Amino acid sequence: MILEEFAELGLSEATLHALQAKGFETPSPIQRLTIPVMMQSEADIIGQAQTGTGKTAAFGLPIIEQLIPQHKTVQALILVPTRELAIQVTDEIQSFRRQGLKVTPIYGGAAIQEQLRRLASGVDIVVGTPGRILDHLGRGTLDLSQLKWLVLDEADEMLNMGFIDDVDEIISYANDKRRIMLFSATMPQRISELAGKYMHNVEHIKVQNKQLANDLTDQIYFEVRESDKFDALTRIIDVEQDFYGIVFCRTKVAVDLVVNNLIERGYAAEGLHGDVSQAMREKILGKFRKRHCSILVATDVAARGIDVSNLTHVVNYSLPQDFESYVHRIGRTGRAGNEGMAITFITPSEYRAFTAMQHQVKTNIRKEQLPSAQDVVEV
Ligand code: ADP
Ligand code: MG
Repeated sequence: MILEEFAELGLSEATLHALQAKGFETPSPIQRLTIPVMMQSEADIIGQAQTGTGKTAAFGLPIIEQLIPQHKTVQALILVPTRELAIQVTDEIQSFRRQGLKVTPIYGGAAIQEQLRRLASGVDIVVGTPGRILDHLGRGTLDLSQLKWLVLDEADEMLNMGFIDDVDEIISYANDKRRIMLFSATMPQRISELAGKYMHNVEHIKVQNKQLANDLTDQIYFEVRESDKFDALTRIIDVEQDFYGIVFCRTKVAVDLVVNNLIERGYAAEGLHGDVSQAMREKILGKFRKRHCSILVATDVAARGIDVSNLTHVVNYSLPQDFESYVHRIGRTGRAGNEGMAITFITPSEYRAFTAMQHQVKTNIRKEQLPSAQDVVEV
C-alpha cells in the first residue's frame, strides 16, 4: 500500500497518489492528529502548532476528501492573514488534485471584476483575506449559506494585523451548521474569546514544541554594534556558500537600505515590504523561490507565512518585536525535514530584551563569535 500512514488516516487512493507525487511520505504530527477528527467526527477543532508544521494539509486534505465538487456553492472558506498566504494555500490545495475541484484565492489589492466572475461561476473552496471577503459578503457576491467548513488559519496573525473584528463578522454571516477549524501558533485571549463565542463541541489539538519543525533549526546569536551589522551580514553570507535565506528588518527604510548596500556589493538581493506593489511582490517571490536571487530582505508583515522550502538561513537583522514574532520568523527555516539556521543580531542595548525573549522561547539560543574576515577569505 502506498503511504501507509496517510492511508490509515482514511484518505482516498487518489489523494494518496497526489501526496506521493508531492513527495510527502508520512503525516506530520498535526496532520496525524487533525485528519481523523475531521474525517470521523463532527467536532470543531482548535489546533495549536507553529508555522512549518504542515497545517495546510491538516485541514485541506479532510476538506477535499469530503466536499462535493461542482456543487456550485462555496463549501469551504479558509481565512488567512495575507495575500501571499491566500495564493500559497490555494496552490497547496490544488496540488492535492481532487478532480473537478474549484478553489480560488480572494484578496485585496487584486481586481475585483475577475473575482466576481470566478465567484459567479461557482467555486468549491475560497481562500481569502478577511477584508476582501467581507467586501464580497457585503455586496452579496459571496454566499456562505451552504458553507460546511470555515478555517481560520494563523488566527493569531489575523489578530496581530487587526483583522479579528472582520473575522468575527464573517463567522456571523456563515450558516450555523459549518464546522470551524481554528489554527494558531499562540492563543491570545482575544482568540480564545472568539473560539468560545462560536465553537461549542471543540477538540483541542496541540503539537508540542518537541515535535515542531523548529527542532531542525539551529538557533544562534551574535553580539554586534548597530554600525557593524551590515558587515556581519555579508560575512555570514560569504562563509555559507549556499546561503539561501530571509533577512528580517524592522522597518521599510531598513529593508531598502540593506538591499541597496547588498546590491552595491554585488550580492543578488531583493526587498519585500508593505510599499512593494502586489505585482512586484509576486515577481520577487517567484524569483526567490526559483533561487534566481538567494537573499530576501523583508519586514515581518511582508514575510508572514511565506512558504519557501529549503531555506538555509533566517537572519534577524533587527531583534524581533516579541517572542511570537521570533517564532514566526524562524519558522521560515527548518521546514519539512530540512535543517536550517536562525541567526539573531543583538546590540548591547538589546541584550535584556533578548534574554527575556529567549526565556519565553524556551530553547537555548547559543552565543557564537562572528566569523572573522580570515574565515571568509579562507572559504
Ligand atoms: P504551516 O501552515 O504549518 O506553516 P504548511 O502547510 O505551509 O505549514 O507546510 C510547510 C511545508 O511542508 C509545505 O511546503 C508543505 O508542502 C510541506 N509539507 C506539509 N506536510 C508535509 C508532509 N507530511 N511531508 C512532507 N512535506 C510536507
Ligand atoms: Mg500555514
